[in-house]
Amino acid sequence: PASPPASRKGDKVTVAGVVISSPDKVLWPGNDGRPPITKADLARYFEAAAERLLPHVADRPVSIIRAPDGIEGETFFQRHAMAGSNPRLKLIDVKARTPYVAVVDVGGLAAVAQSGGLELHPWGCKPGDPETPDQITFDLDPDVGLEFDDVIAASGVVKAKLEGLGLTPFVKTTGGKGLHVVAPIRADGRSRVTWEQNKAFAKAVSEAIKAEAPDRFTTTLAKKARGGKIFIDYLRNGRMATAVAPWSPRARPAAGIAFPLSWDQVKPGLRPADYNLWVWPELLERPDPWADFRAAAVSLRPALRKMGVE
Ligand code: ATP
Ligand code: MN
Ligand code: MN
Repeated sequence: PASPPASRKGDKVTVAGVVISSPDKVLWPGNDGRPPITKADLARYFEAAAERLLPHVADRPVSIIRAPDGIEGETFFQRHAMAGSNPRLKLIDVKARTPYVAVVDVGGLAAVAQSGGLELHPWGCKPGDPETPDQITFDLDPDVGLEFDDVIAASGVVKAKLEGLGLTPFVKTTGGKGLHVVAPIRADGRSRVTWEQNKAFAKAVSEAIKAEAPDRFTTTLAKKARGGKIFIDYLRNGRMATAVAPWSPRARPAAGIAFPLSWDQVKPGLRPADYNLWVWPELLERPDPWADFRAAAVSLRPALRKMGVE
């Protein structure tokens, strides 16, 4: 609500202090009577969503899917700083690697839009500390042919398992085919765990869920192992792994947003496609179901012990 409206001067659009060049460039084509979504539209969305989005991306290494000529043109993943990087983006040191890009503020989000960056995929680390995980993500990937209701049911199984381990799971759409179940964990002092522990925990939980319902779940990456099941992709939890950020748009024709939900919305009838860039003003009027995400973090240590992970 605090953000001022974007200003227009001639054909120049400025959002959060960043000049958006070619503001009318179409990033998502219109369809079914819906208008095209332009670069200026994307920048304004990022500005409006910043207050909700930034806690989930700020000061973490982030991979950005760029589509400078729109989603029908060439798209690529950017991880590292590039020549001509916008000064509103920060460089973040990742041991023995080329520095990664990080967004720190709303100007950084506007700079992402200015570069034709459509999707944000941060590490699951503590802000400013790429070596410390601060969340666990279960990426539920349905085999082709499964219904979205099957993904909904699967998310409930993961939720119950995590709650049984003392964690507080949150859920979001991906703007794609599945759902992500994400639990915040504390990353300070004695609560701190390593990436190896984080990933081993996620793997152990996934294996336990599979063992209880082997006809519904698989933990094997290979597509041919899916056989009508849901792949619980626990590989989002290692060092350098990413997951799409809540509130990130997707570079796909439906212009979906990876959208945070409350658990009571996750029931048959949920249509992820309803959360898209054509309707974002009304979506942002609703309360943020992930507002308490960070406050809900607990130490992973008791859960690690329960799962027998060293
Ligand atoms: P969907 O619901 O359609 O599966 P998704 O975002 O979960 O959407 P996945 O393919 O399951 O898509 O990937 C999960 C996450 O892993 C992505 O959000 C992304 O951050 C990361 N990822 C997947 N593939 C790649 C890739 N080729 N390069 C970089 N990161 C990737
Ligand atoms: Mn997925
Ligand atoms: Mn996946």
